[in-house]
Amino acid sequence: MKKTLLLIHTGGTISMTTDEAGAVSPALNNPLMGEIAKLGVLDDIIEIEAFNLPSPHITPEHMLELKKLIEKTALEQTIDGVVITHGTDTLEETAFFLDLTLSTDMPVVLTGAMRSADEIGSDGVHNVLTAIRVASSDESRDKGVLVVLNDEIHTAQNVTKTHTSNVNTFQSPQYGPIGLVTKGHVHFHHAPLYRTHFRIDEIGRSVALLKVYAGMDSEFLIHSANAGYAGVVLEGLGQGNVPPSVLPGIRKLVAERIPVVLVSRCFNGIAQPVYGYEGGGRMLEEEGVIFAHGLSGQKARLQLLIAISAGLGMDGIAESFRGH
Ligand code: ASP
Repeated sequence: MKKTLLLIHTGGTISMTTDEAGAVSPALNNPLMGEIAKLGVLDDIIEIEAFNLPSPHITPEHMLELKKLIEKTALEQTIDGVVITHGTDTLEETAFFLDLTLSTDMPVVLTGAMRSADEIGSDGVHNVLTAIRVASSDESRDKGVLVVLNDEIHTAQNVTKTHTSNVNTFQSPQYGPIGLVTKGHVHFHHAPLYRTHFRIDEIGRSVALLKVYAGMDSEFLIHSANAGYAGVVLEGLGQGNVPPSVLPGIRKLVAERIPVVLVSRCFNGIAQPVYGYEGGGRMLEEEGVIFAHGLSGQKARLQLLIAISAGLGMDGIAESFRGH
């Protein structure tokens, strides 16, 4: 059956061209606009250019705008799926934002490109077509927001950009893709078990993400409290530990009821309260640190920002991170 898809462009390399000096930048007119319709793929496409931004310019406010655009379009007309083209640098963050905040079982698929529209071997149009095929597949329903590049299907929750320039950059460390796309079919071999959902209408900005390192002190944590940050995510060491010199900062934040969420800076595995030494996970848990099991720092930061924006208190925030 013919389907109607909403195709939203937001910018990124997929919409960029190279100038005479060799610099890759957004084209005045998005070279992708109209290209997909011209190819005469099976589906009816409603094509919207929401922004034309490099993805380092994308903020949580833009992500909220996309969520509202999808909801508004779905209210006004019947759509069977959504494809969003996006710069790859922050693509995983927009995908996870939408995964946490959209309440729909229709397929929502993000894609991008590592090579600009006019580069030899450009992966843009191929990735968009693949994403459209995934968004049109009945099997893609109810799997959360998906990321499709290089013929692989990843969940928003697990996918991350792993390489600066390789077209195979998007990987889901530890879990792998949940499906693949071949010339003939869209194949799923896994489905996500857990999803967390928040209702939000507005978004704040002030959640800090700090990477923990050997010899780190408490200065930036104390600054975060004094500067009015609403929450702090720490990318801790190993199974979820910090140097003892970070403890005074954590204590200050917790005493001021500012949530401190801990992930591991290892990109495989889960942060857990295991070690009993000073600064070890056991002590952090006793001090009131919330463990975000298995999320990356940037995704835990978005979830904390969204949870605070949804009005959740400390217990609700802690509960929301238990689902992972
Ligand atoms: N810097 C680019 C961006 O994220 C990279 C890309 O799109 O691949 O906008």
